[in-house]
Amino acid sequence: PDISLPQMLQRTTETYGDREAVSFFGRKMSYKELLGLVQGFASALQSDGFQKGDRVAIMLPNCPQYVISYYGTLTAGGIVTQVNPMLVERELEYILNDSGAETIVVYDALYPRVKAIKENTGLKTIIAVSLKPGIDTEGAMPFDAFLSTQTGQIRPAEIVPEHDVAVLQYTGGTTGRSKGAMLTHRNLVANVVQSLEFFKNDVRLGQERCLTVIPLFHVFGMTSCMNLTILGGNSMILLPRFEIEEVLNVIKQESPTIFPGVPTMYVAITNHPGAEAYGIDSIRICNSGSAPMPVELLREFERKTGAKILEGYGLSEAAPTTHCNPSFADRKPGTVGLGFPATAYKIVDVGTGENELPPGQLGEVIVAGPQIMKGYWNMPEETAAAVREGWLYTGDIGSMDEEGYLSIVDRKKDMIIAGGYNIYPRDIEEVLYEHPAVQEAVVVGVPDAYRGETVKAFIVLKDGAAASEDDITAFCRKQMSAYKVPSYIEFRQELPKTSVGKILRRALREEGSGNPA
Ligand code: ATP
Repeated sequence: PDISLPQMLQRTTETYGDREAVSFFGRKMSYKELLGLVQGFASALQSDGFQKGDRVAIMLPNCPQYVISYYGTLTAGGIVTQVNPMLVERELEYILNDSGAETIVVYDALYPRVKAIKENTGLKTIIAVSLKPGIDTEGAMPFDAFLSTQTGQIRPAEIVPEHDVAVLQYTGGTTGRSKGAMLTHRNLVANVVQSLEFFKNDVRLGQERCLTVIPLFHVFGMTSCMNLTILGGNSMILLPRFEIEEVLNVIKQESPTIFPGVPTMYVAITNHPGAEAYGIDSIRICNSGSAPMPVELLREFERKTGAKILEGYGLSEAAPTTHCNPSFADRKPGTVGLGFPATAYKIVDVGTGENELPPGQLGEVIVAGPQIMKGYWNMPEETAAAVREGWLYTGDIGSMDEEGYLSIVDRKKDMIIAGGYNIYPRDIEEVLYEHPAVQEAVVVGVPDAYRGETVKAFIVLKDGAAASEDDITAFCRKQMSAYKVPSYIEFRQELPKTSVGKILRRALREEGSGNPA
C-alpha cells in the first residue's frame, strides 16, 4: 500500500495500541504511548519553525528517543539524516553541511563533538538525550524539555510517499566522499512490506520480540528491526551496544524471538562457552546480513542455539534488502537466497555494465524494485552512474544459479588481482573458517613487487586453540589452488570492525601494505 511511515505507525497503533512497542532495559512503552510521544516531537519541531522537507540529524545509540525522534521528524514532514555516533568532528561537520540539517538530536556523551563544530554548520537547535545523568550539555536543550514545547497541534505534512524523501542514509564513504542515499517513504515502506510478505511463514503479527542490537542509524537496523517491527505490531528490545554478557542477559530476561544480526555477532554467541544457559532457544529466526556469513559458522550457530539463520543481502541504496534465503523453499547456505517480492535482478559484465550473463557466471549484480533509492542527495552525476534506467548498480560481484539463488562473491573494490588472477577474498575466508582453531578470518590484497598484489590473511584464533602459520598454510594448500594460498598470515587478538560489526577490510589493507615484500 502506498502509505507514509507515519501512516504505518498510525495504522499499527489502531490495531495494536496497547501492545508493547519498545522495551529498553526493562522500561516498556506501548504503541499508544509511542505515538503520543512521536506526535509531541512533531508538534515541538513545528513550533520551532520547522518546515516540510527540513532535515533533522539523529546521532544516538539505540534507545527509545531514537524511535521517537525518527518518527516525530517524519510526522512533521521532515527528513531524517542518519548519523553514525562514531563519526569524528570532521566527518560530522561534512554530513551536517551536506544534508543542511538545522536540528540535531544527540546523545549527551557525544555532545562535545557537536559543540566543537556547531559554528561551522547551519545548526540552530540541539536536543540532547541523556541516558545517564551527569554530563554537561550546556547550550543544548534536554530532550524532555524540547518535548514539553509541543502545542498539542500538528499541521498535517501532506506526504507524497512516492516523491518525498524520508531518510538520508549516508554510505560508508570507503571510496571518496560519503553520499546521502535518498530513501523515500515509498522505498522504506515497500521494503518492510516486501519483508513481511517474504517471511510470512516465519513472522507473526503482534507477537514477535525483536532483539534490536544492530544500530538503528544503519540501514539494516532501521528497516529490519525498527520499521519491520512497527509494520508487524511487534516489539523491539533495544540495546545500545553489542557486549556479549549484556546481550545474553537481555536475551534471558526478554525472550526475543527474532534476532537480526551481522556474522560477527553470531560468532560471539557461538564461541561463548555458557551461552546455552541464557535461554537463547527463545530465538527462532536470525536474519543475517551486511557481510557474508561463513557456512561453517552458520552450522555451528544453528547446532548450538536451534535458531534458523536466514542470510540476506542488501545495501543502503536499496533501503536495504533485495535478497534473502527463504523458509518457503530450500535454504542454500553460502548464497544470499532469492529476490524479494517485486525485485528484479541480473548479473552483467563488470566492465561495461551491459550483457546479461547466464547462470554460473560472475559479474556485477544489478537490482530493480520499489525499494531502490531516488538518488544521492545533491549528487546528480553519482546518481546517474549508480541508477541507470531503474537498475541499481550495486558494485558487488556475484552469480546466480539455475534456480535464481544469488551468491555474492565480493565487492568490485575488494577483489585481489595477483599475477593476473582474480582472487575473491571470500573464497579463501570460507576455507579458513573451516579450520578448527579459527574464530575469525579476513583476507585482503597487499602490494607485491612480483605479482602486483598478493593475499594476506588476518586470523583470530579461538580461545585456548593453537595453530601456527605453517598449519594454516598447509590447511589452505589442501583446499585451494596455489595462487590463492595466503602469502602472509598474521594472528591478531581481535579485528577492527565498523559500528555495525563488519570487519573493516580497508583498515587492514592499509596496515597490510607495510608488509615486507
Ligand atoms: P561500506 O560501503 O563502507 O560497507 P556501509 O556498510 O554503510 O558502507 P552498506 O550499504 O550497509 O554500506 O553495505 C552494503 C554492502 O554490504 C553490499 O554492497 C555488500 O557488499 C555487503 N553485503 C551486504 N550483505 C551481504 C551478504 N549477505 N554477503 C556479502 N556481502 C554483503
